[in-house]
Amino acid sequence: MRTVEEHQRVVAALITARPAVSVPIADALGLVLAEDVVAPLSLPGFDNSAMDGYAVMVDDVASATPENPVRLPVAEDIPAGRTDLLTLKPGVAHRIMTGAMLPAGATAVVPVEATNAATDTVEIRAAARDGQHIRRAGEDVAAGTAVLRASQLVTPAALGLAAALGLAELTVIPRQRVLVMSTGTELVAPGTPLAPGQIYESNAVMLAAALRDTGADVVASPMTGDDVESFRAALAKHTGDADLIITTGGVSAGAYEVVKDALGAPTPATSGLGGSVDFVKVAMQPGMPQGCGVITAPGPPASPQRDIPIVTLPGNPVSALVSFEVFLRAPLRLAMGLPNPARPRRDAVLTEDLTSPRGKRQFRRGVLDAAAGTVTSYGPPASHHLRWLASANCLLEIAEDVDALSAGSPVQVWDLT
Ligand code: AMP
Ligand code: MG
Repeated sequence: MRTVEEHQRVVAALITARPAVSVPIADALGLVLAEDVVAPLSLPGFDNSAMDGYAVMVDDVASATPENPVRLPVAEDIPAGRTDLLTLKPGVAHRIMTGAMLPAGATAVVPVEATNAATDTVEIRAAARDGQHIRRAGEDVAAGTAVLRASQLVTPAALGLAAALGLAELTVIPRQRVLVMSTGTELVAPGTPLAPGQIYESNAVMLAAALRDTGADVVASPMTGDDVESFRAALAKHTGDADLIITTGGVSAGAYEVVKDALGAPTPATSGLGGSVDFVKVAMQPGMPQGCGVITAPGPPASPQRDIPIVTLPGNPVSALVSFEVFLRAPLRLAMGLPNPARPRRDAVLTEDLTSPRGKRQFRRGVLDAAAGTVTSYGPPASHHLRWLASANCLLEIAEDVDALSAGSPVQVWDLT
Protein backbone atom coordinates (compact mmCIF):
# COMPACT_ATOMS: atom_id res chain seq x y z
CA MET A 1 0.00 0.00 0.00
CA ARG A 2 1.10 3.55 -0.71
CA THR A 3 1.27 6.09 2.07
CA VAL A 4 -0.86 9.21 1.82
CA GLU A 5 2.29 11.28 1.24
CA GLU A 6 3.53 8.98 -1.55
CA HIS A 7 0.25 9.24 -3.42
CA GLN A 8 0.12 12.99 -2.81
CA ARG A 9 3.54 13.30 -4.46
CA VAL A 10 2.56 11.18 -7.47
CA VAL A 11 -0.65 13.15 -8.04
CA ALA A 12 1.04 16.52 -7.51
CA ALA A 13 3.69 15.66 -10.12
CA LEU A 14 0.93 15.19 -12.74
CA ILE A 15 -0.55 18.67 -12.35
CA THR A 16 1.23 21.53 -14.07
CA ALA A 17 0.50 25.22 -14.60
CA ARG A 18 -0.99 26.46 -17.86
CA PRO A 19 0.95 29.15 -19.70
CA ALA A 20 0.16 32.73 -18.72
CA VAL A 21 -2.57 34.47 -20.73
CA SER A 22 -3.98 37.97 -21.12
CA VAL A 23 -7.60 38.20 -20.08
CA PRO A 24 -10.10 41.07 -19.90
CA ILE A 25 -9.59 42.55 -16.45
CA ALA A 26 -12.97 41.45 -15.09
CA ASP A 27 -12.03 37.82 -15.79
CA ALA A 28 -8.82 38.13 -13.76
CA LEU A 29 -10.56 38.30 -10.39
CA GLY A 30 -9.30 35.53 -8.09
CA LEU A 31 -6.35 34.63 -10.31
CA VAL A 32 -2.73 35.61 -9.76
CA LEU A 33 -0.76 37.96 -11.93
CA ALA A 34 1.87 36.35 -14.14
CA GLU A 35 3.86 39.58 -14.44
CA ASP A 36 4.30 42.93 -12.71
CA VAL A 37 1.85 45.66 -13.68
CA VAL A 38 3.69 48.89 -14.50
CA ALA A 39 1.60 52.05 -14.45
CA PRO A 40 1.33 53.45 -18.01
CA LEU A 41 0.16 56.80 -16.62
CA SER A 42 0.11 58.78 -13.40
CA LEU A 43 -2.78 58.94 -10.98
CA PRO A 44 -4.22 61.49 -10.69
CA GLY A 45 -3.45 62.21 -14.31
CA PHE A 46 -3.74 66.00 -13.77
CA ASP A 47 -4.04 68.45 -10.87
CA ASN A 48 -7.71 68.45 -9.89
CA SER A 49 -10.07 69.66 -7.23
CA ALA A 50 -10.67 67.56 -4.12
CA MET A 51 -13.84 69.53 -3.26
CA ASP A 52 -16.82 71.22 -4.85
CA GLY A 53 -15.95 74.91 -4.52
CA TYR A 54 -13.99 77.72 -6.16
CA ALA A 55 -10.52 77.69 -7.66
CA VAL A 56 -8.71 80.84 -6.53
CA MET A 57 -5.31 82.41 -6.04
CA VAL A 58 -4.40 82.29 -2.35
CA ASP A 59 -3.27 85.95 -2.37
CA ASP A 60 -6.70 87.09 -3.65
CA VAL A 61 -8.52 85.64 -0.63
CA ALA A 62 -5.90 86.25 2.09
CA SER A 63 -8.11 88.73 3.98
CA ALA A 64 -11.38 86.77 3.71
CA THR A 65 -13.36 86.18 6.94
CA PRO A 66 -17.05 85.47 7.56
CA GLU A 67 -17.51 89.10 8.63
CA ASN A 68 -15.46 90.57 5.76
CA PRO A 69 -15.80 88.21 2.77
CA VAL A 70 -13.82 88.77 -0.40
CA ARG A 71 -16.01 89.14 -3.50
CA LEU A 72 -14.66 87.65 -6.75
CA PRO A 73 -16.34 87.46 -10.17
CA VAL A 74 -16.88 83.85 -11.28
CA ALA A 75 -15.22 83.67 -14.71
CA GLU A 76 -15.72 79.98 -15.49
CA ASP A 77 -17.81 77.02 -14.40
CA ILE A 78 -15.78 73.77 -14.43
CA PRO A 79 -17.72 70.54 -13.97
CA ALA A 80 -15.80 67.23 -13.82
CA GLY A 81 -15.05 66.10 -17.37
CA ARG A 82 -14.53 69.55 -18.90
CA THR A 83 -11.63 69.03 -21.29
CA ASP A 84 -10.55 72.50 -22.46
CA LEU A 85 -7.44 73.99 -20.83
CA LEU A 86 -8.29 77.00 -18.67
CA THR A 87 -6.19 79.64 -16.98
CA LEU A 88 -7.26 81.54 -13.85
CA LYS A 89 -6.50 85.25 -13.94
CA PRO A 90 -5.76 87.24 -10.76
CA GLY A 91 -8.84 88.73 -9.11
CA VAL A 92 -11.36 86.15 -10.34
CA ALA A 93 -12.59 82.72 -9.25
CA HIS A 94 -13.65 79.62 -11.21
CA ARG A 95 -16.47 77.52 -9.82
CA ILE A 96 -15.10 73.95 -9.82
CA MET A 97 -16.45 70.50 -8.97
CA THR A 98 -14.67 67.53 -7.36
CA GLY A 99 -12.44 65.76 -9.89
CA ALA A 100 -12.48 68.63 -12.40
CA MET A 101 -9.11 69.75 -13.82
CA LEU A 102 -7.68 72.71 -11.96
CA PRO A 103 -7.19 75.83 -14.13
CA ALA A 104 -3.56 76.87 -14.58
CA GLY A 105 -2.64 79.58 -12.07
CA ALA A 106 -5.06 78.45 -9.33
CA THR A 107 -3.28 77.83 -6.03
CA ALA A 108 -6.18 76.65 -3.84
CA VAL A 109 -9.78 75.50 -3.83
CA VAL A 110 -12.18 77.13 -1.40
CA PRO A 111 -14.95 74.67 -0.51
CA VAL A 112 -18.48 75.72 -1.40
CA GLU A 113 -19.37 75.61 2.32
CA ALA A 114 -17.05 78.60 2.90
CA THR A 115 -18.87 80.70 0.26
CA ASN A 116 -22.35 81.88 -0.69
CA ALA A 117 -22.30 79.39 -3.63
CA ALA A 118 -23.01 82.14 -6.16
CA THR A 119 -22.37 81.74 -9.88
CA ASP A 120 -21.91 85.41 -10.83
CA THR A 121 -19.92 87.03 -8.01
CA VAL A 122 -18.94 84.72 -5.20
CA GLU A 123 -18.43 85.70 -1.58
CA ILE A 124 -15.39 83.93 -0.17
CA ARG A 125 -15.64 83.75 3.64
CA ALA A 126 -12.33 82.11 4.56
CA ALA A 127 -8.68 82.49 3.59
CA ALA A 128 -7.01 79.54 1.87
CA ARG A 129 -3.76 77.67 2.40
CA ASP A 130 -1.47 77.24 -0.60
CA GLY A 131 -2.43 73.97 -2.34
CA GLN A 132 -5.55 73.50 -0.25
CA HIS A 133 -8.01 70.87 -1.59
CA ILE A 134 -5.89 70.23 -4.66
CA ARG A 135 -5.05 66.64 -5.65
CA ARG A 136 -1.69 66.77 -7.39
CA ALA A 137 -0.94 64.81 -10.57
CA GLY A 138 0.96 61.62 -9.69
CA GLU A 139 0.47 61.84 -5.93
CA ASP A 140 -1.21 58.41 -5.94
CA VAL A 141 0.78 56.66 -8.69
CA ALA A 142 3.74 57.95 -10.70
CA ALA A 143 3.79 56.62 -14.28
CA GLY A 144 6.36 53.83 -14.60
CA THR A 145 5.90 52.49 -11.07
CA ALA A 146 5.26 48.75 -10.62
CA VAL A 147 1.94 49.00 -8.79
CA LEU A 148 1.06 45.29 -8.74
CA ARG A 149 3.51 42.42 -8.53
CA ALA A 150 3.71 39.08 -10.32
CA SER A 151 2.13 36.32 -8.20
CA GLN A 152 -0.15 38.82 -6.47
CA LEU A 153 -3.79 37.75 -6.19
CA VAL A 154 -6.15 39.90 -8.25
CA THR A 155 -8.67 41.37 -5.82
CA PRO A 156 -11.55 43.77 -6.54
CA ALA A 157 -9.29 46.65 -5.48
CA ALA A 158 -6.51 45.46 -7.83
CA LEU A 159 -9.05 45.43 -10.65
CA GLY A 160 -10.10 48.97 -9.73
CA LEU A 161 -6.48 50.10 -9.89
CA ALA A 162 -5.92 48.37 -13.25
CA ALA A 163 -9.02 50.04 -14.68
CA ALA A 164 -7.99 53.44 -13.28
CA LEU A 165 -4.71 52.99 -15.13
CA GLY A 166 -6.62 52.35 -18.35
CA LEU A 167 -5.66 48.68 -18.59
CA ALA A 168 -8.22 46.55 -20.42
CA GLU A 169 -6.36 43.25 -19.88
CA LEU A 170 -4.17 41.61 -17.27
CA THR A 171 -1.71 38.75 -17.73
CA VAL A 172 -2.56 35.98 -15.32
CA ILE A 173 -1.97 32.31 -14.62
CA PRO A 174 -5.18 30.79 -15.95
CA ARG A 175 -7.54 28.49 -14.14
CA GLN A 176 -6.95 24.76 -14.44
CA ARG A 177 -9.62 23.22 -16.65
CA VAL A 178 -10.97 20.02 -15.19
CA LEU A 179 -13.28 17.34 -16.58
CA VAL A 180 -15.26 15.57 -13.85
CA MET A 181 -16.73 12.19 -14.78
CA SER A 182 -18.83 10.05 -12.51
CA THR A 183 -19.44 6.41 -13.25
CA GLY A 184 -22.12 3.99 -12.14
CA THR A 185 -25.03 2.28 -13.87
CA GLU A 186 -27.08 2.92 -10.72
CA LEU A 187 -26.77 6.71 -11.07
CA VAL A 188 -29.63 9.01 -12.09
CA ALA A 189 -29.53 12.77 -12.40
CA PRO A 190 -31.33 14.66 -9.61
CA GLY A 191 -34.73 15.86 -10.79
CA THR A 192 -35.66 12.61 -12.57
CA PRO A 193 -37.63 9.70 -11.03
CA LEU A 194 -35.72 6.80 -9.45
CA ALA A 195 -36.34 3.16 -10.34
CA PRO A 196 -35.72 0.58 -7.61
CA GLY A 197 -31.97 0.09 -7.15
CA GLN A 198 -31.07 3.47 -8.58
CA ILE A 199 -29.61 6.41 -6.65
CA TYR A 200 -29.13 10.05 -7.40
CA GLU A 201 -25.74 11.08 -8.74
CA SER A 202 -24.04 13.34 -6.20
CA ASN A 203 -20.28 13.24 -6.82
CA ALA A 204 -20.20 15.29 -9.99
CA VAL A 205 -22.01 18.33 -8.61
CA MET A 206 -20.05 18.08 -5.36
CA LEU A 207 -16.63 17.81 -7.00
CA ALA A 208 -17.45 20.45 -9.60
CA ALA A 209 -18.33 22.79 -6.73
CA ALA A 210 -15.16 21.85 -4.84
CA LEU A 211 -13.14 22.54 -7.99
CA ARG A 212 -14.70 25.96 -8.50
CA ASP A 213 -14.15 26.71 -4.84
CA THR A 214 -10.51 25.78 -5.40
CA GLY A 215 -10.29 28.28 -8.25
CA ALA A 216 -10.46 25.79 -11.13
CA ASP A 217 -12.86 25.68 -14.09
CA VAL A 218 -15.02 22.64 -14.77
CA VAL A 219 -15.20 21.89 -18.49
CA ALA A 220 -17.95 19.29 -18.14
CA SER A 221 -19.27 16.86 -15.56
CA PRO A 222 -20.92 13.98 -17.43
CA MET A 223 -21.89 10.63 -15.91
CA THR A 224 -21.63 7.26 -17.58
CA GLY A 225 -22.76 3.75 -16.80
CA ASP A 226 -20.41 0.91 -15.93
CA ASP A 227 -19.83 -0.02 -19.54
CA VAL A 228 -16.26 0.21 -20.79
CA GLU A 229 -17.12 1.31 -24.30
CA SER A 230 -19.51 4.07 -23.25
CA PHE A 231 -17.07 5.24 -20.58
CA ARG A 232 -14.30 5.49 -23.19
CA ALA A 233 -16.61 7.23 -25.61
CA ALA A 234 -17.63 9.78 -22.95
CA LEU A 235 -13.98 10.36 -22.07
CA ALA A 236 -13.03 10.92 -25.70
CA LYS A 237 -16.02 13.18 -26.24
CA HIS A 238 -15.57 15.47 -23.25
CA THR A 239 -11.81 15.63 -22.76
CA GLY A 240 -11.40 18.56 -25.16
CA ASP A 241 -8.83 20.96 -23.81
CA ALA A 242 -9.05 19.80 -20.19
CA ASP A 243 -5.85 19.96 -18.14
CA LEU A 244 -6.99 17.24 -15.75
CA ILE A 245 -9.60 14.51 -15.65
CA ILE A 246 -11.13 13.39 -12.37
CA THR A 247 -13.31 10.29 -12.33
CA THR A 248 -15.28 8.79 -9.48
CA GLY A 249 -16.26 5.19 -8.95
CA GLY A 250 -15.26 2.00 -10.64
CA VAL A 251 -11.83 1.58 -9.07
CA SER A 252 -12.35 -0.91 -6.24
CA ALA A 253 -11.99 -4.67 -6.14
CA GLY A 254 -15.40 -5.85 -7.37
CA ALA A 255 -16.66 -6.68 -10.84
CA TYR A 256 -17.92 -3.94 -13.19
CA GLU A 257 -15.11 -1.60 -12.12
CA VAL A 258 -15.43 0.42 -15.28
CA VAL A 259 -12.60 2.89 -14.77
CA LYS A 260 -10.15 0.13 -13.91
CA ASP A 261 -11.38 -2.03 -16.77
CA ALA A 262 -11.17 0.80 -19.28
CA LEU A 263 -7.84 2.29 -18.24
CA GLY A 264 -5.99 -0.42 -16.32
CA ALA A 265 -5.41 -2.75 -19.22
CA PRO A 266 -3.57 -1.59 -22.34
CA THR A 267 -6.24 0.14 -24.37
CA PRO A 268 -6.94 -1.05 -27.90
CA ALA A 269 -5.66 1.29 -30.59
CA THR A 270 -9.16 1.54 -32.02
CA SER A 271 -10.51 3.26 -28.91
CA GLY A 272 -8.57 6.45 -29.64
CA LEU A 273 -7.36 6.45 -26.04
CA GLY A 274 -3.94 5.43 -24.80
CA GLY A 275 -1.79 6.16 -21.80
CA SER A 276 -1.11 4.48 -18.54
CA VAL A 277 -2.97 4.65 -15.26
CA ASP A 278 -1.81 2.96 -12.05
CA PHE A 279 -4.47 1.64 -9.73
CA VAL A 280 -3.19 1.49 -6.18
CA LYS A 281 -4.24 1.18 -2.60
CA VAL A 282 -3.47 4.07 -0.31
CA ALA A 283 -3.23 3.45 3.42
CA MET A 284 -6.07 5.75 4.36
CA GLN A 285 -9.71 5.66 5.39
CA PRO A 286 -11.82 6.67 3.61
CA GLY A 287 -10.35 6.61 0.13
CA MET A 288 -8.22 3.48 -0.07
CA PRO A 289 -8.70 2.60 -3.76
CA GLN A 290 -7.07 5.27 -5.87
CA GLY A 291 -5.60 5.62 -9.31
CA CYS A 292 -3.74 8.14 -11.35
CA GLY A 293 -1.70 8.49 -14.49
CA VAL A 294 -1.90 9.94 -17.93
CA ILE A 295 -4.19 9.20 -20.82
CA THR A 296 -3.55 10.10 -24.41
CA ALA A 297 -6.67 11.45 -25.99
CA PRO A 298 -7.67 13.39 -29.06
CA GLY A 299 -7.35 17.09 -28.32
CA PRO A 300 -9.68 19.79 -29.59
CA PRO A 301 -10.63 19.39 -33.28
CA ALA A 302 -7.65 19.68 -35.64
CA SER A 303 -5.07 19.47 -32.85
CA PRO A 304 -2.81 16.51 -32.18
CA GLN A 305 -3.29 13.89 -29.49
CA ARG A 306 -2.05 14.93 -26.12
CA ASP A 307 -1.36 13.51 -22.68
CA ILE A 308 -3.79 14.49 -19.97
CA PRO A 309 -3.35 13.68 -16.31
CA ILE A 310 -6.14 11.65 -14.80
CA VAL A 311 -6.95 10.98 -11.16
CA THR A 312 -9.48 8.25 -10.47
CA LEU A 313 -11.23 8.66 -7.14
CA PRO A 314 -13.35 6.06 -5.37
CA GLY A 315 -17.12 6.37 -5.80
CA ASN A 316 -18.39 6.69 -2.27
CA PRO A 317 -19.23 10.38 -1.94
CA VAL A 318 -17.32 10.86 1.31
CA SER A 319 -14.29 9.02 -0.10
CA ALA A 320 -14.46 11.11 -3.25
CA LEU A 321 -14.54 14.46 -1.47
CA VAL A 322 -11.99 13.53 1.19
CA SER A 323 -9.70 12.23 -1.58
CA PHE A 324 -10.15 15.50 -3.43
CA GLU A 325 -9.13 17.40 -0.30
CA VAL A 326 -6.16 15.17 0.42
CA PHE A 327 -4.75 14.75 -3.10
CA LEU A 328 -6.06 17.42 -5.44
CA ARG A 329 -6.90 20.72 -3.82
CA ALA A 330 -3.37 21.79 -2.95
CA PRO A 331 -1.67 20.86 -6.25
CA LEU A 332 -4.43 22.55 -8.24
CA ARG A 333 -4.05 25.76 -6.24
CA LEU A 334 -0.28 25.55 -6.57
CA ALA A 335 -0.58 25.17 -10.34
CA MET A 336 -2.66 28.35 -10.41
CA GLY A 337 -0.20 30.11 -8.11
CA LEU A 338 -2.98 30.72 -5.60
CA PRO A 339 -2.21 31.56 -1.98
CA ASN A 340 -2.69 29.05 0.84
CA PRO A 341 -2.71 25.95 -1.34
CA ALA A 342 -3.02 23.62 1.65
CA ARG A 343 -5.90 23.75 4.08
CA PRO A 344 -4.79 25.30 7.35
CA ARG A 345 -3.91 22.68 9.98
CA ARG A 346 -4.96 23.37 13.54
CA ASP A 347 -4.25 21.71 16.84
CA ALA A 348 -7.34 20.86 18.83
CA VAL A 349 -8.29 18.83 21.87
CA LEU A 350 -10.54 15.84 21.26
CA THR A 351 -13.76 15.90 23.28
CA GLU A 352 -14.44 12.13 23.17
CA ASP A 353 -12.85 8.70 22.87
CA LEU A 354 -12.23 7.49 19.29
CA THR A 355 -10.92 4.38 17.62
CA SER A 356 -9.12 4.25 14.30
CA PRO A 357 -7.91 1.38 12.08
CA ARG A 358 -4.24 0.63 12.72
CA GLY A 359 -2.11 0.92 9.60
CA LYS A 360 -4.32 3.54 7.91
CA ARG A 361 -4.43 7.31 8.09
CA GLN A 362 -7.96 8.12 9.12
CA PHE A 363 -9.75 11.30 8.11
CA ARG A 364 -12.82 11.67 10.32
CA ARG A 365 -15.35 14.42 9.75
CA GLY A 366 -15.33 16.80 12.67
CA VAL A 367 -16.72 19.94 14.17
CA LEU A 368 -14.01 22.27 15.34
CA ASP A 369 -14.86 24.82 18.02
CA ALA A 370 -12.11 27.28 17.27
CA ALA A 371 -12.82 29.45 20.32
CA ALA A 372 -12.66 26.51 22.72
CA GLY A 373 -9.87 24.78 20.75
CA THR A 374 -11.80 21.52 20.78
CA VAL A 375 -12.92 19.10 18.11
CA THR A 376 -15.69 16.50 18.12
CA SER A 377 -15.96 13.82 15.49
CA TYR A 378 -19.11 14.03 13.47
CA GLY A 379 -20.87 10.93 12.23
CA PRO A 380 -19.57 7.42 11.68
CA PRO A 381 -16.29 6.79 9.84
CA ALA A 382 -17.89 4.83 6.96
CA SER A 383 -17.64 6.52 3.63
CA HIS A 384 -21.30 6.76 2.57
CA HIS A 385 -22.33 9.10 5.40
CA LEU A 386 -22.56 12.25 3.34
CA ARG A 387 -24.97 13.89 5.77
CA TRP A 388 -22.28 14.37 8.39
CA LEU A 389 -19.70 15.62 5.96
CA ALA A 390 -22.17 18.24 4.80
CA SER A 391 -22.28 19.81 8.25
CA ALA A 392 -18.69 19.22 9.35
CA ASN A 393 -16.19 22.06 9.31
CA CYS A 394 -12.96 20.09 9.53
CA LEU A 395 -11.26 16.79 8.87
CA LEU A 396 -9.70 15.10 11.87
CA GLU A 397 -6.44 13.44 10.87
CA ILE A 398 -5.51 10.35 12.86
CA ALA A 399 -2.11 8.78 12.25
CA GLU A 400 -1.55 5.23 10.95
CA ASP A 401 0.03 3.99 14.18
CA VAL A 402 -2.86 5.16 16.39
CA ASP A 403 -5.77 2.81 17.05
CA ALA A 404 -7.40 4.63 19.95
CA LEU A 405 -7.55 8.17 21.23
CA SER A 406 -9.06 9.21 24.52
CA ALA A 407 -10.96 12.39 25.26
CA GLY A 408 -8.50 15.20 25.99
CA SER A 409 -5.93 13.98 23.43
CA PRO A 410 -4.32 16.56 21.17
CA VAL A 411 -5.26 16.03 17.50
CA GLN A 412 -4.61 17.74 14.18
CA VAL A 413 -7.51 18.96 12.06
CA TRP A 414 -7.77 20.36 8.54
CA ASP A 415 -9.82 23.50 8.71
CA LEU A 416 -12.34 23.40 5.85
CA THR A 417 -13.99 26.73 6.57
P1 AMP B 1 -17.83 2.38 -6.64
O1 AMP B 1 -16.59 3.05 -6.22
O2 AMP B 1 -18.20 2.61 -8.07
O3 AMP B 1 -17.82 0.93 -6.29
O4 AMP B 1 -19.00 3.04 -5.79
C1 AMP B 1 -18.99 2.94 -4.38
C2 AMP B 1 -20.30 3.42 -3.82
O5 AMP B 1 -20.46 4.80 -4.12
C3 AMP B 1 -21.52 2.75 -4.37
O6 AMP B 1 -22.47 2.64 -3.34
C4 AMP B 1 -22.01 3.69 -5.45
O7 AMP B 1 -23.38 3.59 -5.70
C5 AMP B 1 -21.67 5.03 -4.83
N1 AMP B 1 -21.41 6.02 -5.86
C6 AMP B 1 -20.50 5.91 -6.85
N2 AMP B 1 -20.51 6.99 -7.64
C7 AMP B 1 -21.46 7.81 -7.15
C8 AMP B 1 -21.95 9.07 -7.52
N3 AMP B 1 -21.43 9.72 -8.58
N4 AMP B 1 -22.93 9.62 -6.78
C9 AMP B 1 -23.42 8.97 -5.71
N5 AMP B 1 -23.00 7.79 -5.30
C10 AMP B 1 -22.03 7.19 -6.00
MG1 MG C 1 -19.54 2.07 -9.37
